Amino acid sequence: MKYKEYKIYCEQDKLETLEAQLAALGIEEIIINDPADAELFSPEKAIGWFWNAVDESVLAQFRERPSVCFYLEAENSEDPSDPREERGASGIARERLSADQLKRRDWGLAQLLKSYEASVSTVDDQDWLHKWEEYYVPSKISEHFVVKPDWKEYDPAPGEQVISIDPGLAFGTGTSATTYLVVRLMEKWMRPGDDVLDVGCGTGILSIVASKLGAKDIMAVDIDPEAIDSTKRNAAINGCEGRIKVVHGDLTKGLSYRADVVVANLISDLVVMLSPDVAAHCKGRGLYISSGIIDGTEDRCRKAVEDAGFEIIDQLHDDCWTAFAAVLRK
Ligand code: SAH
Repeated sequence: MKYKEYKIYCEQDKLETLEAQLAALGIEEIIINDPADAELFSPEKAIGWFWNAVDESVLAQFRERPSVCFYLEAENSEDPSDPREERGASGIARERLSADQLKRRDWGLAQLLKSYEASVSTVDDQDWLHKWEEYYVPSKISEHFVVKPDWKEYDPAPGEQVISIDPGLAFGTGTSATTYLVVRLMEKWMRPGDDVLDVGCGTGILSIVASKLGAKDIMAVDIDPEAIDSTKRNAAINGCEGRIKVVHGDLTKGLSYRADVVVANLISDLVVMLSPDVAAHCKGRGLYISSGIIDGTEDRCRKAVEDAGFEIIDQLHDDCWTAFAAVLRK
């Protein structure tokens, strides 16, 4: 299906008026580009702390001229057999307009466009939810492990272990440095027979790696229900469903499981917050592999891990991420 993309430019103080004018025409699914919003990401502002990383190229888009963007179905693009016909470009279901309503809206819009500078172009609808899948290809992420999408074939070379992932809406295809740095540290420091706790399991990829490395008991925990579904699905795809106990929950709330190895690919602020809880879930030598530590926060995370009772024995860095391997101090 084809859509018309409208971009209407106006002064910043006219954005609200324009929004109301469009709403009066029934056009309510709009994207407002207000340069003032860029301030929300500024490190100087009070809420700047909330953002772990801000991509400058995204920020640059905010700083463009104030505008309102929206999509309407291009004329004659209706295909009664298309199951997406009740969905807008945003993928949100909406009611169909009668021919009269459409005429009124289009006339009103034409009048409105006379008083603004605007651009109109035709765009193809895309299945955005699945678009990323084109870019997910088999990749070798460590000495032994190759990750691949479940829907693609891969012929392993001798010595390669293949993990198939169907992520759904969970994090953890294996191609992020935050994930593969953990896999590399697990390969190096885990021992067969270890019990493993996977904190924030996402797709379950680290639990599957643990299983392939010969872990005895594995518990995968996540606060996100999407991650629980994803981990169960991926454990089954990789034939380790019997070895991984999947729990919907929060590490900090009443989880009694203790393990020889805790893997946690989180973000810097959570590494700082959760390291004491990780210590409470360790037994034996208490190997703790933490990841998701973005450049500039290593010292803060190192201190949190050490203050929680661990000694850092190894660290890896790639892209802009660091991962630590640590053991409980005796
Ligand atoms: N382990 C996967 C996914 C990491 S994404 C990988 O390495 O690729 C981080 C996950 O941590 C998210 O799924 C998030 O929901 C989960 N998470 C965040 N805080 C948590 C908490 N307190 N307890 C359990 N899971 C948590």
